[in-house]
Amino acid sequence: MEFQEYVNFLNSELTVIKGVGEKKSALFAKLGINCVWDLLYYFPYEHEDRRSFYKIATCPDNKLCCIKAIPKGKLLKKNIRKNIALFTLTVADNSGLVNVKFFSNPYYKISFDLDTEYVFFGRMVTGYGKREFEMKSYEKSGGGNTGVMLPVYHASAGLGQNVIRKTVRDALGGVDYLVDSLPESVISRYNLCTIDEAVRQMHLPDSEQALARARARLVFEELFVLQLALMFLKSRRTENSGLVFQKISVAADFAKKLPFELTDSQKQVINEICTDFRSGKPMNRLLQGDVGSGKTVVAAAVMYTAHANGYQSAMMAPTEILAQQHYNTLTSFFGDSLNIALLTGSTGKKKKLLADIKDGKYDIVVGTHALIEGNVEFANLGLCITDEQHRFGVNQRARLFEKGMTPHVLVMSATPIPRTLSLILYGDLDVSIINTLPKGREPIDTFCVKSDMHNRVYGFVKKQLDEGRQCYVVCPLVEKSDTMDVTSSVEFEEELRSKVLPGYRIGLLHGKMKAAQKDEIMTAFKNLELDLLVSTTVIEVGVDVPNANIIVIENAERFGLSQLHQLRGRVGRGQHKSYCILVTDADNKETSERMSIMTATNDGFKISQKDLELRGCGEFFGTRQHGLPELKVANLFTDIDVLKLVQQACGEILAEDPLLESGDMAMIRARIQKLFAEYDNFNIFN
Ligand code: ADP
Ligand code: MG
Repeated sequence: MEFQEYVNFLNSELTVIKGVGEKKSALFAKLGINCVWDLLYYFPYEHEDRRSFYKIATCPDNKLCCIKAIPKGKLLKKNIRKNIALFTLTVADNSGLVNVKFFSNPYYKISFDLDTEYVFFGRMVTGYGKREFEMKSYEKSGGGNTGVMLPVYHASAGLGQNVIRKTVRDALGGVDYLVDSLPESVISRYNLCTIDEAVRQMHLPDSEQALARARARLVFEELFVLQLALMFLKSRRTENSGLVFQKISVAADFAKKLPFELTDSQKQVINEICTDFRSGKPMNRLLQGDVGSGKTVVAAAVMYTAHANGYQSAMMAPTEILAQQHYNTLTSFFGDSLNIALLTGSTGKKKKLLADIKDGKYDIVVGTHALIEGNVEFANLGLCITDEQHRFGVNQRARLFEKGMTPHVLVMSATPIPRTLSLILYGDLDVSIINTLPKGREPIDTFCVKSDMHNRVYGFVKKQLDEGRQCYVVCPLVEKSDTMDVTSSVEFEEELRSKVLPGYRIGLLHGKMKAAQKDEIMTAFKNLELDLLVSTTVIEVGVDVPNANIIVIENAERFGLSQLHQLRGRVGRGQHKSYCILVTDADNKETSERMSIMTATNDGFKISQKDLELRGCGEFFGTRQHGLPELKVANLFTDIDVLKLVQQACGEILAEDPLLESGDMAMIRARIQKLFAEYDNFNIFN
């Protein structure tokens, strides 16, 4: 096969494989498999060990294995529920008899030939002294699925295991040899197997050892592509010389004017940032601090410093509510001494504003994604800050700092992430941490209750409101839904207003409202003109009203752990003892686990670690908690050792070939480009 022919084959639609027509190809596309390459990288999530055979008499209990036996009677069927029946079949080998049991749809046609040998895969179990064989699958003896480690794929309606297995086998048969994209030197140095061996063994392994080796290679490669891209981005940036800010003591002058004393952590972080400002290299720093730790004031101090050195700053937030709040906060910090602009999707008179930003009339521009649009230009942008960084992609971050001539970049996030993850994600960033809360903060007391406790919950809320505090009530939905039995904010506000808390000033806030309306409500809440705010997750990040000390989260089971922690972070921001009440009637194991973690700890780091464990990495990545493409093979808990090797390898490569231009990097370059283009429409080598 010529190289070009090979590349074409990998990029072809699945219809090039015999037996795959348009219809099947469309079903594969639903699984995200659009070409032969995708199929080859569609790895099984487990293998059934069809190599170990036992005699019925000596088969151990509870071990997945095969028995070879002959049906000795009629297949019995017992309907259990609609579309589910329990089937029983008596089978025998020369050592004895056993009942094979399995569940299936009663309408499927299932039949066994008497006096024909079958292989049954499953496990022997003993209950009440009786042995039975719980079957997972079967085939006639001599069929192709016996004697191997059989791959099991995530299948879908219309695409069963055997179809996927056959298609993968045919695809593998269509390629003589998969060409490595990792450079030869890396493969030998890190003792990896070839990609050809790895991909084939992932699907159809010869042994457990071969499978482990194949997986190790793919984990290495997956992390390598991601890490090299991030380290490349970082090196490309630091190559350019940075703006030097000489006047640094101004940050301290700013701090002196604040109504509170900065915490030691905040001071430390401001110092780290100012050191970067003076270093001559562009800063590229992550500021991580739990909810309520006081990141905004750090941002203000360093933007003030940028201004004193003659540069503009831009600060980007993920929601309009948050952008507006930052604008208000900064305006109150700086008064008339700095010119601050607010730029969001709903900003009016934009033309004039944009012209003034370009002319340098504004010192600070606060905004949403609107900031990174093409028509926004700065006179001399020296510092870019993204708040709640996990809500943005690498791409968006890059687009912001490309508005200046290598400005300093600070990204802030409250979503604390485990060390492994931060190593990968922020391989391209330096990290500063605020690890203490401002003085006088008490931990938030968190309770989990059932909805039949509503009266007591709102009785308690009432007491807090009477003492002058304010309350958030969070509902999962905006409006009533016909399909879900879940509290909606619109309905619930009505109920609170008319029945539960009549006479109290209650407001409603949700994402379907116009920006001006949202702002009006938020401002009223902040100005103590409202006692209680019923809201959706639009308040999830950043919102800061220190007088609010109680948050009730309805249908708490609908929220992930990190989300609950963020929501809870809306309270405990002032001197008042604060409370979080999780209301849920769900009693499944997963929900109760989540709730008990919430009630047990206030530590965001522990919570995100747990979140990752409970949801699995795939989903954690899927929800874009971080702004990077998904990992398919690597596991963030178990593969940290591989990650360290990968970082070493990437470091060595970049030291020798900083622009990744050498011939043996060509394929990796293409992989990186494709990955980021698909994920984020981002051309990394530009
Ligand atoms: P986050 O880190 O979640 O973004 P914020 O920056 O919104 O937190 O700060 C939370 C609250 O704490 C704000 O009301 C802020 O004014 C206040 N705050 C910040 N730093 C201090 C401090 N050193 N002492 C007292 N209050 C502070
Ligand atoms: Mg914040």
